[in-house]
Amino acid sequence: MAGLVKEIEAAQFETEVLDGERVVVDFYSTECPPCEALAPKYDALAELYGKDVRFVKIYRQGNRALAESLGVRSSPTVLFYENGRPKGQPLRGGIKRAELMKNLEALLPEESAAAIRARIRPSADSCDVLILGGGPAGLAAAIYAAQARLDTVLVDAALPGGQVATTHQVSNYPGFVEPQSGYMLSHFMSEQAKAAGARFKVAVDITRVDLEQREVVIDGTETIRAARLILATGSSPRALGVPGEREYKGQGISYCATCDAKYFEDKEVIVIGGGNTAVEESLFISRFARRITMVHQFDHLQANKAAQEKAFANERIQFLWSHEPRGFSRKGKDGGPAMEVEVEDLKSRERRTLTADGVFVFAGMEPNLENLQGPLELDKWGYVAVDEDMHTSIPGVFAVGDIRSKAYRQITTAVADGTVAAIAAARELG
Ligand SMILES: Cc1cc2nc3c(=O)[nH]c(=O)nc-3n(C[C@H](O)[C@H](O)[C@H](O)COP(=O)(O)OP(=O)(O)OC[C@H]3O[C@@H](n4cnc5c(N)ncnc54)[C@H](O)[C@@H]3O)c2cc1C
Repeated sequence: MAGLVKEIEAAQFETEVLDGERVVVDFYSTECPPCEALAPKYDALAELYGKDVRFVKIYRQGNRALAESLGVRSSPTVLFYENGRPKGQPLRGGIKRAELMKNLEALLPEESAAAIRARIRPSADSCDVLILGGGPAGLAAAIYAAQARLDTVLVDAALPGGQVATTHQVSNYPGFVEPQSGYMLSHFMSEQAKAAGARFKVAVDITRVDLEQREVVIDGTETIRAARLILATGSSPRALGVPGEREYKGQGISYCATCDAKYFEDKEVIVIGGGNTAVEESLFISRFARRITMVHQFDHLQANKAAQEKAFANERIQFLWSHEPRGFSRKGKDGGPAMEVEVEDLKSRERRTLTADGVFVFAGMEPNLENLQGPLELDKWGYVAVDEDMHTSIPGVFAVGDIRSKAYRQITTAVADGTVAAIAAARELG
């Protein structure tokens, strides 16, 4: 209920926030997708907590000096105050309902928090097509389904965009002469889906997915039942679990040679892995890079014979056997572009540091199947098996994009899958 949320200006900050007992403040901006994702959650929680906590909104661009004085540098940023003092950590970006509730409860005595929790009532919604996952596959499905006048809901555990949103530059998506920012490409896909009428429920907790009932429960309370369910949750590179890997992902560590090898013309790279993908991708990278060092945990490659022979015959590729990475960092104090990889010799246990312009990790990918219960048929690598129209083994359930069984995982193949599934769903629903 928007009436319980008060929009204020900087001049009112003292009386409305600092003089209040318990206050939550949302610094928002316009043209800000994570702010749009937060707004309905903020309004709904104001309805629940509004008697005990004052809900305030401040337009960040219009109150820049105040925002900066409070350390607010991005939108949305949500701050919590108790008797004029900040309480807990600010929340930023794709803020989930559960995170907001946790911080609101921290402002309240336990019995008040428990009483509010007891008032939460589950809600139910239904739609023609529910798309789980808002990467390019899910967004393409949303565009086609919504343009076909189907009531379409797109649900994502994070903000929409998928892997494309975090890809620095995309140079192989048709229609653009110059490389495009991945973030903007996915932003335009999202806006196109919204303009077509798709309803977005993003940065939510996926509590339960019942594939056979085609029912998804989000944030513990909201059940959405769909005539057709399209799974588009993508896949994730299998993490090595090595310090620095997460920090330098996309900033020196890449998981996609097709996408990034071209940035290493006449440079040196380190490849982690020794299976089929690692060998084939190293051969591809060797079209660009001057030198490739493959670091592999075994003393032989796992790839097929033909690929191995090509790799051994390639003068640009060298091998460091029986070694594993132990840490990734930037070379030098100034944080220059070169990467350092600390490796351990698995036989002698000695460690040393390798340097290169970039690192590629090919330790395999895994489909994002978390929460997807039910007798979903998978291929032998664990990806979802589908027919030509993207039907899975469960009636009314489709799978598209990187989550499904296929040979090539790219943005173009993901949007093609989403297109096929949405058209098939539209035909079936008449
Ligand atoms: C670093 C990198 C660079 C790349 N560069 C290129 C490139 O230049 N060109 C190219 O063509 N391809 C590139 N790719 C490959 C391309 O990004 C993927 O093939 C494509 O994004 C797959 O789309 P998708 O929609 O299937 O999955 P994703 O893009 O992975 O999107 C999946 C979405 O599902 C959501 N999700 C995950 N689990 C759940 C869940 N349980 N419930 C709800 N939502 C969930 C995620 O938050 C995400 O938004 C790159 C990949 C990587 C990793």
